[in-house]
Amino acid sequence: MLLSVIIPCYNEEPVLRATHERLTSVLRGMTGVDYELIFVNDGSRDRTQEILAELQLFDPRARVLLLSRNFGHQIAVTAGLAEAAGDAVVIIDADLQDPPEVIPQMVQLWRDGNEVVYGIRIERDGESRFKLWTAKLFYRLINRLSETKMPLDAGDFRLLDRKVVEVIKAMPERARFLRGMVSWAGFRQVAVPYDRAARHAGDSKYPLMKMIHFAMDGIISFSLVPLKLAIWTGFLAIWIAVAGIIVAIADRLLDKNLARGWASLFVAVLFMGGVQLVSLGILGEYLGRIYTEVKRRPLYVVQERLGFPADTTTEMARAYEVNAR
Ligand code: UDP
Ligand code: MG
Repeated sequence: MLLSVIIPCYNEEPVLRATHERLTSVLRGMTGVDYELIFVNDGSRDRTQEILAELQLFDPRARVLLLSRNFGHQIAVTAGLAEAAGDAVVIIDADLQDPPEVIPQMVQLWRDGNEVVYGIRIERDGESRFKLWTAKLFYRLINRLSETKMPLDAGDFRLLDRKVVEVIKAMPERARFLRGMVSWAGFRQVAVPYDRAARHAGDSKYPLMKMIHFAMDGIISFSLVPLKLAIWTGFLAIWIAVAGIIVAIADRLLDKNLARGWASLFVAVLFMGGVQLVSLGILGEYLGRIYTEVKRRPLYVVQERLGFPADTTTEMARAYEVNAR
């Protein structure tokens, strides 16, 4: 069997050698498994490309896919999936936060007949309390809002069977929230718990704003609930208004009408204005996404490929391009 390991890299210069070494020692130790390492350089601005090119020179199992600019983690993984030739594919971060030592366990569970083996993070070292808390909140929120049930606290560290990879490749959407897409695909999915280490070196490439965008992508691509929210707040406001009208009429009839009510009027107008703007904003989010989807641009642009067996990859890349159209 052939196992493809996809490693998205964005400015990972300080960790790459260690990552390559640890992956190699784990994968070499597995019997009956041949493997390829697909490093996707997501438009890094440091020496990542030089280091990868050098690693590739000495390791015939390493392949390097250089994207023409930074397209983001999820797209980088997508690019890797399009190039992977394996019967199974493992997606792993470059920073050694996901321990490669878990891979044999994943492969075992795959051999036992599971098509998806996803890592569940039990411990998360070296992450801020804020990140832990927001991540926890996010996974619970998205499960509330989405019809696709996603495992809590699972990241993108996972093994996918070829069948699942083909399903993901056939999904053309631009806003790619891979963990949701994998859940959507179905098949037999099983969890393997692991402790997530601190970053081996370098800084997180997911600053707060990127995290927020990622979370919004996830929620908006997998849920229509925010759209419905506008309807429910609208109805609520109407009921409050009806109650207000009844009170006003009663006030008038009982002749207690003193020239009060400016403040409440003002608050009501402001409140409704706010609700309307928020609703418009939500509409805009969905509309904007529809707009980017209908443009039908390719998801990414490959600048350079190193170490790929030319025949199979170009064929697969072409198949992917057709799929993406
Ligand atoms: N990454 C990427 N493109 C990006 C941001 C991140 O390919 O635009 C890669 C990064 O190199 C790493 C993985 O995605 O291998 C996860 O990123 P990071 O470790 O910074 O995220 P965190 O673990 O802090 O959530
Ligand atoms: Mg990380």
